[in-house]
Amino acid sequence: MTRLLIVGPQGSGKGTQGVRIAETFGIPAVSTGDVFRGAVAAGTPLGEQVKAIIEAGDLVPDELTSAVVRERLSQPDAASGFLLDGYPRNVAQVMHLDEFLEGRGEAIDSVIELEVPRDESIARLSRRAAEQGRSDDTEEGIANRLAIYERETAPILDIYRARDVVERIDGVGSLDEITGRIVAALEARGLGRGAAA
Ligand code: AMP
Repeated sequence: MTRLLIVGPQGSGKGTQGVRIAETFGIPAVSTGDVFRGAVAAGTPLGEQVKAIIEAGDLVPDELTSAVVRERLSQPDAASGFLLDGYPRNVAQVMHLDEFLEGRGEAIDSVIELEVPRDESIARLSRRAAEQGRSDDTEEGIANRLAIYERETAPILDIYRARDVVERIDGVGSLDEITGRIVAALEARGLGRGAAA
């Protein structure tokens, strides 16, 4: 069982690294941003509810987001562990996740904190805007999301630091270098490939 969170500002590469780490450890990567974007693209009721919020770069209400996560983590493939990307994003969501996991007798094993300087995140987001045309990658959307990260998401790291589960990883380098750093840090905690055997 490996239960991981990956936390970092937008443009830190957490989506890409999250998928790589999940593959390495044989667990599903669950990105709330991807779930919401998928719902918007498919035009589901959830998509209708969150479309305008996502485009503005604001946060979807906590209750709704936490319900989506609970449902996803209740699928059979998450029974052997999971990696959450983009959730929890504020203190209220940490409390929702704690309550859900405690109900199952589980806890988060490690939180990967990807550290990237602000200028580098902005440069990466602007590149992604040009390449992928994501509707929230406008100048205002990017600034709003980075401000929300600093104000609401960064404080959740203090909660997890107090539990001694945070691995702070330098997020500057090649994709393979960064994946290697994360895997090494998790293995040093006795998690992942070696531990699964
Ligand atoms: P992301 O791909 O993680 O940057 O998420 C894209 C957008 O989805 C965010 O700007 C929010 O509007 C919404 N979103 C994703 N995760 C959450 C969350 N945990 N809480 C609230 N809103 C979220």
